Amino acid sequence: MIERSAIELEGVVKEYLSHGEVVQAVKGVTLDIAEGEFFSLLGPSGCGKTTTMRMIAGFEEPSKGVVRLHGQDVTNVPPNRRDVNMVFQSYALFPHMSVWDNVAFGLKQKKTPQEEIRRRVGEMLEIVDLGGREKRRPRELSGGQQQRVALARALVNRPRALLLDEPLGALDLKLRQAMQLELKRIQREVGITFVYVTHDQSEALTMSDRIAVMNDGLVEQLAGPREIYERPASTFVAGFIGTSNLLSGTAAGGVLETGGGRVLVPGHDGVVSVTIRPEKIRISADKPDGELSALPGTVAEVVYLGTYTSYAVTLADGAEITVFQQNAQDATTTAERGDSVWLSWQARHSYVMESR
Ligand code: ADP
Ligand code: MG
Repeated sequence: MIERSAIELEGVVKEYLSHGEVVQAVKGVTLDIAEGEFFSLLGPSGCGKTTTMRMIAGFEEPSKGVVRLHGQDVTNVPPNRRDVNMVFQSYALFPHMSVWDNVAFGLKQKKTPQEEIRRRVGEMLEIVDLGGREKRRPRELSGGQQQRVALARALVNRPRALLLDEPLGALDLKLRQAMQLELKRIQREVGITFVYVTHDQSEALTMSDRIAVMNDGLVEQLAGPREIYERPASTFVAGFIGTSNLLSGTAAGGVLETGGGRVLVPGHDGVVSVTIRPEKIRISADKPDGELSALPGTVAEVVYLGTYTSYAVTLADGAEITVFQQNAQDATTTAERGDSVWLSWQARHSYVMESR
């Protein structure tokens, strides 16, 4: 398959003048989004996600750098002449118009023939699962349904890319999870590029083909969900995505002696930080045999969470390690608060970063 570029950002910077001071909202972002990709910008509030989206849509002009859509430089092209549409958290539907008229609005503006409007709006309402509700007003719909109307209204224009800025932020958790799967299905069905902004890591992991993790105006890592979760490129990413344990110290000969035990860091020497995901760690009563990283500790907390149990284990040096143990039928260990235990894991489950 030949992957064609839908959206390219090259060295994009955005500076604002705020009370006489220059604020850099985006500090130099370079990325390349493929056609048909579900791509997410993920990061904490204020890291520059919305500003980046607005530059893709054309609502903001970059202070530096280039924006290309489908190979064409659009850096100075106004939003209405870019082949992208944006969906916001506040749906901004027309309250006095029916669902049908809300979705048909853009096509009517463009003087699309009546028959074509009928066909396209009908098709789109089917795709977002709102067939039969076309006569309703927005206030007669649930939050999730309103969001689907907003989606249909954007998609009916057949943009080559759809930009979604925290579109599910106003929905409660259960509805949000249902809508995540729904959005993914719709994206597959219409086959267009989605760029999705969120501060919610589980949302990004669930839906995305690739994720750009942003921090303070920069992309810290750009990779698939699995890679980001298992091989975080920085301590920021490790801390932001899921639960992770962080150990640091000075390694010699590929071994980090810490907390009364040792952590294997093959090929690394000097000051290192090591990330280990909680589900990769085993708990045992005795010191394990074999070529493993192994640390002794004391169980400080046990929380039963249905499919798994979460343990907080305190090491000799006071560091706390979180361990998730699957509650499988043949679960071997049941440690209790106050027990002395050993934690162990295979070297390949340590993700090592040499400190700068
Ligand atoms: P996010 O969407 O990730 O929460 P934003 O892109 O909205 O972040 O904002 C990034 C930074 O830029 C923030 O510090 C914000 O205060 C600042 N910023 C955004 N828009 C403006 C503006 N129009 N004028 C001044 N500063 C702004
Ligand atoms: Mg934002």
